[in-house]
Amino acid sequence: QQAKESGRNRFELYTAKLDYQSEVVTLENYLRKALERNELFICYQPVVNMKTKKIEALEALIRWKQPDIGFVSPAQFIPLAEETGLIVPITKWLLKQACIHIKAIHQFAPHMKIAINISAVHFQQDDFVEQLSAIAKKNDVHPRFFKLELTESTIMPNAEESVQKLVQLKQCGFKLAIDDFGTGFSSLSYLHRFPIDILKIDQSFIRRLSLYSDDATIVSTIIMMAHHLHLSVVAEGVETGQQYEFLTQQQCDMAQGYYIAKPMQIDEVQRFIQEWDAIHE
Ligand code: C2E
Ligand code: MG
Ligand code: MG
Ligand code: MG
Repeated sequence: QQAKESGRNRFELYTAKLDYQSEVVTLENYLRKALERNELFICYQPVVNMKTKKIEALEALIRWKQPDIGFVSPAQFIPLAEETGLIVPITKWLLKQACIHIKAIHQFAPHMKIAINISAVHFQQDDFVEQLSAIAKKNDVHPRFFKLELTESTIMPNAEESVQKLVQLKQCGFKLAIDDFGTGFSSLSYLHRFPIDILKIDQSFIRRLSLYSDDATIVSTIIMMAHHLHLSVVAEGVETGQQYEFLTQQQCDMAQGYYIAKPMQIDEVQRFIQEWDAIHE
């Protein structure tokens, strides 16, 4: 913790002297080396099935600890990784790690799935489907254990092409989710044309649930609409028992957020699942 604090302070002192452009270049140079230097790791955040009370999936969230500058938030380095194309090798590395991890997790939780965030620049590559299925195959994990999270802004432009690609992913066995639903400019009329399985309601709606009745209306409407389209719904960013209760009343299928658990490192997953199962028998 102390190392983390001092790392952050040093970074702030350091970057205060630099203009924005050189700060980005510095971070970019660090990021280029992050993979080979083993500075990236994954935290997993549980997703609970609200009906069975079981943990049904874990979302893989990438983390970067750079020795000189400390922790860098994904909100900062993912956009940079996207601009530089580094997101492609990073995501391939992450999927491979997730394959190794899911095999270990299946020893004690045989139905567990892992959700993986996919960036638009990667999705748009011609051989995206082949890349992913090749990694799953090489590491001997069936794609049905992976849920790919895509945002509306990834699939809405070139909707026709996206449909083709999503169909191919489905044929491989991957599960598909729309992440941060409600924040993009979504065309509801298009939604039913995408072969997706899950809608993840963006956490901004969940956060405001108790403050604005409008948000409660939006959330319950999204849930109803999703069910009419035969989609499951995940509520993201569930932080309180009140939010969880409301979502239960609205027949929401799954919940994810600090109320259930914060993202954790892989070595904490087994104990968490076992304790959770013991309490929610
Ligand atoms: P996301 O995919 O929507 O992930 C959910 C984010 O919400 C995560 O932030 C998670 O830690 C945070 N979160 C979960 N529950 C709560 C809660 O109850 N309250 C609050 N306040 N926050 C909560 P994180 O890990 O900082 O990731 C941020 C974003 O970075 C992700 O949003 C995703 O878009 C992106 N990201 C993370 N890992 C990857 C990755 O491997 N690849 C790509 N392309 N993007 C990633
Ligand atoms: Mg996500
Ligand atoms: Mg999200
Ligand atoms: Mg997001």
